[in-house]
Amino acid sequence: MLSIYNPEVAILKVARMGHPVLRAKALPVPKDQIPTARVQRLIDDMFETMREYAGIGLAAPQVHEGVRIFVAGLRNAAVGPVVPDEEEMPYMALINPEIEPVGTTATEGWEGCLSIPDIRGLVPRAAEIRVQAFDRTGAKVKFTASGLPARVIQHETDHLDGVLFFDRMKNFESLSFMEEYRRFRNEDEE
Ligand SMILES: [Zn+2]
Repeated sequence: MLSIYNPEVAILKVARMGHPVLRAKALPVPKDQIPTARVQRLIDDMFETMREYAGIGLAAPQVHEGVRIFVAGLRNAAVGPVVPDEEEMPYMALINPEIEPVGTTATEGWEGCLSIPDIRGLVPRAAEIRVQAFDRTGAKVKFTASGLPARVIQHETDHLDGVLFFDRMKNFESLSFMEEYRRFRNEDEE
């Protein structure tokens, strides 16, 4: 399911906060459309775009496509039944994802967004989630995720419903530009 470097992929333009596409609810992808060249190309281009801008996740509405697809991750590895809490989450392309929290524990963590450049903020998220989706082959995948992968998947799934991370913040006290985040906040990241 993983995208390998392909010289034919394109880097897409990323919509920034204020563009209405980021506030619209994206449409499910019919299962029989998943193998089509158009959807596969979109996924390849989204991976390429995410890596170009050093993101850890990118949802289709962020590249002006109102469909329920996101890509995420930092390295090539299989997505098993449990995606552990680690900083190097495996690449995944999820289609029509559905998530539910496991338990009621929430944790705050720093988030950024390619559609809100150079800003970081502390966002509460469910510590562990159960995920169901199609992968890019059209196979149904089910897994649980915690920690950073759980945070990224919640952030990206929110994009499919027109929700940005600002909307999830309890208050805006933590909001920081990247430069100030690096100077003053990085050390208390955990
Ligand atoms: Zn985002």
